[in-house]
Amino acid sequence: MIELTEVRKVYPGGVTALDDVSLRIDAGALAAIVGPSGSGKSTLLHLIGALDVPTSGTVRIDGRDVAALSDAGLSRLRATTIGFVFQQFHLAPGLSALDNVADGLLYAGVALPERRRRAAEALERVGLAHRLSHRPHQLSGGERQRVAIARAVLGDPPLLLADEPTGNLDSAAGAGVMALLRSLHEAGTTVVVITHDRDIAAALPSRFALRDGRLA
Ligand code: ADP
Ligand code: MG
Repeated sequence: MIELTEVRKVYPGGVTALDDVSLRIDAGALAAIVGPSGSGKSTLLHLIGALDVPTSGTVRIDGRDVAALSDAGLSRLRATTIGFVFQQFHLAPGLSALDNVADGLLYAGVALPERRRRAAEALERVGLAHRLSHRPHQLSGGERQRVAIARAVLGDPPLLLADEPTGNLDSAAGAGVMALLRSLHEAGTTVVVITHDRDIAAALPSRFALRDGRLA
């Protein structure tokens, strides 16, 4: 599903965020990328998510070399293959949970009634069938992250990338979100969780440790 070969990422200004990173994550994996703040985790997630390209080396996602894709090809790869979950949830404050999730298919050319129907189904899957009309500020942190996860999996992407998904949650809500990610993995999704939390990483079957931009 994911194959990085000798990847290096240097940001304008000269920070080397990743250096000589090679890794492979197979389809069906549940993997952690763990490391302290500043070790390059988010940079790695952006490369795996085809949101950015490496300075050198290659990134292959689902068999495709990301650097060789056109802008349209990149958009298609992100829309059809990858779901994203972020620490800050990134929900629209004025919209109900249902419409926040339904917007996940906005660019897939699906009409609103069908998007809402699928959004309601996705919210049911994450245990939020009773919160469809709540706005983000009326939801707990754990519920907000569940809404974000429902939005991320709406199009059934084979790959789910989560950047510090429990970073803003207390430990009970964090455990609930991890249980949800596990159940998505058991249903067949490849899940990659970025975390600085060693306990969360230790509980996952496969782990990659980053330090100063290098894999340990
Ligand atoms: P982590 O997610 O592990 O905290 P990041 O991947 O965000 O680490 O950052 C790795 C390094 O790259 C840090 O030194 C950070 O300051 C730097 N960095 C991240 N993004 C940028 C950017 N857009 N421009 C310049 N430097 C960046
Ligand atoms: Mg980060």
